[in-house]
Amino acid sequence: MIVVIGGGLSGLAAALTVQERGQQVHLIEGNENVGGRLATERIDGFTIDRGFQVINPGYREFERLGLRTHIHPIPAGAVAFVDERWNFYGDPRRELRAMGGSLPSIAANPISFLAVLRGIFIATIAEGESAADFLQRIGISGEVYEGIIEPFLRGVFLTSLSEVDAKFARRVLRSLYRHVPGLPDGGVATVAIELRNRLKSIQCGTRVTAITRSGKGFSVTTENSTISARRVIVATDYHSAAQFSNRLPHITHARSSAWYFAIEEPLRAQHQLYVSRANSGPVVTAIDVASVVPSYSPDGRGLLSVTTLAPCSESEVREHLAKMYGELFTGELIAQFDIANALPILAPGAERTGAINEEGLIFAGDYLTEPSQNGALLSGRLAGEFALA
Ligand SMILES: Cc1cc2nc3c(=O)[nH]c(=O)nc-3n(C[C@H](O)[C@H](O)[C@H](O)COP(=O)(O)OP(=O)(O)OC[C@H]3O[C@@H](n4cnc5c(N)ncnc54)[C@H](O)[C@@H]3O)c2cc1C
Repeated sequence: MIVVIGGGLSGLAAALTVQERGQQVHLIEGNENVGGRLATERIDGFTIDRGFQVINPGYREFERLGLRTHIHPIPAGAVAFVDERWNFYGDPRRELRAMGGSLPSIAANPISFLAVLRGIFIATIAEGESAADFLQRIGISGEVYEGIIEPFLRGVFLTSLSEVDAKFARRVLRSLYRHVPGLPDGGVATVAIELRNRLKSIQCGTRVTAITRSGKGFSVTTENSTISARRVIVATDYHSAAQFSNRLPHITHARSSAWYFAIEEPLRAQHQLYVSRANSGPVVTAIDVASVVPSYSPDGRGLLSVTTLAPCSESEVREHLAKMYGELFTGELIAQFDIANALPILAPGAERTGAINEEGLIFAGDYLTEPSQNGALLSGRLAGEFALA
């Protein structure tokens, strides 16, 4: 028997990899539900994800798993403040009509816009280069960098681009160029539930408290039982995993906060993702998720999902939203979460092993590959393969 600890995407992928090869596997999850950081709640009839995140069905690992959950695409591109105006900037292949308003700033900054394409496809990245250094070195500068690219990517990595590996930033940009991400009915946790439903042996609401070596295998202790296992895959978040090993690499994490407002009065382009430049206020991104998936709202009101990074007050968020949408912001606050360890930071030049095998005690998670759903799934699959070897 192989035991997997943790029912986030990495644990689910690990368990499915083992199960598909006909081996016995049992997954133990500490929470009542699987999903880990893909978490969704119902609050006052609204579908609320614990932090704005999108599903990219084009991720290689989702394709490999044959993800069937329907994803409603979000409009490709973002509304950004450039040359003193809010404008929509996107991929002209997908949002040609909406691009009209941004043509003047594209004409005013042609070199920077061309550099974006060069950065995605051909420019060479130096060893250990940060995303900030790379993007500016290849000529993305001024308004285009500060108004569009930097805020957009800060919203993805939840930290400053000087802290992020350039190769990872480019993988993200390429993936967004090739595929349009979106949201499923029922919230992002729906994707984890689809994977859970394929597993034969799973136990939720049970935390593992100890793992000890015993003979050629392991004893896995939970709050109410002890299970013997030939191999153990620890697919928890980084800080929980560190309780079971003192050999893990040191990894820092980005924090974020999620705010959800019900909105009655229409806001300008509320269905599109807004990105806001550094030092303009606490908000990094905002979008009405109910205009992407109408079932997120019980009564036709919009549901503005807002992300902030540094700790801040509700009035600071409202003030910033009023500046972004150009009017007094009167939305009703429905939910707010602080997410202490939202994303592991993939630092410039950092080596990532994929999964770690400590003589049969195997570790998986996004902190061992890259901070994304694809990274978590990949790490889980690699861990499953280690366990089968
Ligand atoms: C705000 C936010 C926005 C994001 N946006 C995106 C995005 O747009 N696109 C993208 O690709 N990725 C995004 N991500 C990243 C993505 O969600 C994560 O990379 C991925 O879900 C991590 O999966 P994981 O399995 O590695 O870890 P986790 O999801 O953390 O799963 C670990 C699991 O282990 C369980 N556990 C811990 N300790 C124990 C124990 N002792 N016993 C039993 N169970 C235990 C936990 O309960 C948890 O379920 C975002 C993340 C956040 C937080």
